[in-house]
Amino acid sequence: MSSDCLFCRIAAGEIPGDIVYEDDELLAFNDISPQAPHHVLVIPKAHVGTVNDLSVEHAELVGRLVLRAQAIAGDRGIQDSGYRLILNCNAHGGQTVFHLHLHLLGGRQLMALG
Ligand code: AMP
Ligand code: ZN
Repeated sequence: MSSDCLFCRIAAGEIPGDIVYEDDELLAFNDISPQAPHHVLVIPKAHVGTVNDLSVEHAELVGRLVLRAQAIAGDRGIQDSGYRLILNCNAHGGQTVFHLHLHLLGGRQLMALG
């Protein structure tokens, strides 16, 4: 837990989040500025800054992060229409919150990446 990290503070319940899923390891909440009808962030509760901080010890955690996003997409009925999972890393990747988070975006046709 990093006291100056926004998502650590949401995970700790210090800042409210619009939480859609929680277990011992993972938290998912609606993005405060949704870019699609469904825009959920899935995070590990333990602080990981960026994708660059991942190592082989995180392999199963990352797998469960993706599977949780898949399950949320299924719950919302968008698995067949499709969705996008994004991990932004550092400045050129557009990362603004430095606690690893997987974006789940869906519910409309998403534009090509650029
Ligand atoms: P990124 O640009 O990949 O770092 O994404 C950060 C995301 O966090 C953005 O989509 C923001 O809209 C979202 N965000 C920022 N603050 C909050 C918050 N308090 N609750 C939920 N989502 C947030
Ligand atoms: Zn954090």
